[in-house]
Amino acid sequence: MVEPPDQPFRLIKTIRRGSKMMEGGFMYTVQRRIGDVVHWQCKERGTCEARIHTKDTDIVKRTNEHTHAPDDKSVSGCETKVGIKREARESHYSAHHIVGESLQTASAPVQPTTLAELALPAVYQQAAKGEQFSL
Ligand SMILES: [Zn+2]
Repeated sequence: MVEPPDQPFRLIKTIRRGSKMMEGGFMYTVQRRIGDVVHWQCKERGTCEARIHTKDTDIVKRTNEHTHAPDDKSVSGCETKVGIKREARESHYSAHHIVGESLQTASAPVQPTTLAELALPAVYQQAAKGEQFSL
């Protein structure tokens, strides 16, 4: 398994306690900290024994395989939710405004409201032989 060279995992600061970590479509919560090393446990603890130890920005140890498939959708949804909660606490914007802004930047495709916003990728503008059929 090859990890991307920079930033193999992402940390998400949650409001209540500590952090969550996203790595490879899996989500982890802090199990404990020993010196500089953070022990993360899969959020499916109880059914999944996968653990990761990190030091600074490096994964220094992996224990056990996940017993379930990665779930990028729930990971991305969690990031959006945490962002909304933080924004609501730290800004003066209304909840309605914050949710709207967060959904705009979330990875889910945004529903276009005008024809001008409907940007069709070039690959979908051509017929099988390459002729343009959509303007
Ligand atoms: Zn797991």
